[in-house]
Amino acid sequence: MVVYLVGAGPGDPDLITLKAIKTLQKADVVVYDRLANEEILKYASGAARIYVGKRAGAHSKKQDEINQILIEQGKKYDNVVRLKGGDPFVFGRGGEEMLALLEEGIPVEVIPGVTSAIGVPTSSGLPVTHRGVATSFTVVTGHEDPTKNEKQVQWNYNADTLVILMGVGHLEENIQKIMEHKDPQTPVCVIEKGTTPDERMVLGTLENIAQKDITPPALVIIGPVVDVYQSLQSKKR
Ligand code: SAH
Repeated sequence: MVVYLVGAGPGDPDLITLKAIKTLQKADVVVYDRLANEEILKYASGAARIYVGKRAGAHSKKQDEINQILIEQGKKYDNVVRLKGGDPFVFGRGGEEMLALLEEGIPVEVIPGVTSAIGVPTSSGLPVTHRGVATSFTVVTGHEDPTKNEKQVQWNYNADTLVILMGVGHLEENIQKIMEHKDPQTPVCVIEKGTTPDERMVLGTLENIAQKDITPPALVIIGPVVDVYQSLQSKKR
């Protein structure tokens, strides 16, 4: 009885780690959701599958239910894989799952994944840091737990590059707050469904990005590195 919290990478099934593949190959059961590319499940061909993500027209399972499923499976099987999009600890609620399992005495191992926060811009040729342009980057959620009384995110980050995950739903209001701290002409890039065949990129500025047509899942990247991306593109032959 071990539950492995495994990062599946940002979308392209080839961006999974060797360690994740080896763990999937010995899995008895795989618990997965919609962000993990289903092609990855082929590595666990002998394993049972439990889908805990969203279905069209239906709500996704609540976190408590997912924790319960992991506890049940952890008690039942030797090797349980909880496959999560990107990296399991980057806005993946992996820490909560780990805590719930440890409280039941179930051992947990965590296998990192390529997070979309960096893997998606890098795959597109957008460096999140660039010498002389950006010495720091901050990754932040655009969607805080709505039940929280006080918002933790203040949007007054000093980082040269800001990467927003889950940023589509509240894009307009969040951008308004960011413009209290950054120049409205700061370049912005949105990457939808990065590293997949449906990848789409939208370029703009803080001032106009919220008016553009954007669909999730998408990353919002703010800062002068977006200009670096464009100059790199212009040099391609
Ligand atoms: N653990 C994941 C993030 C989970 S939060 C990771 O490390 O990548 C889900 C958010 O991640 C989405 O709302 C979106 O902002 C971002 N995301 C995940 N996959 C993406 C992709 N292929 N393209 C763009 N954004 C993606």
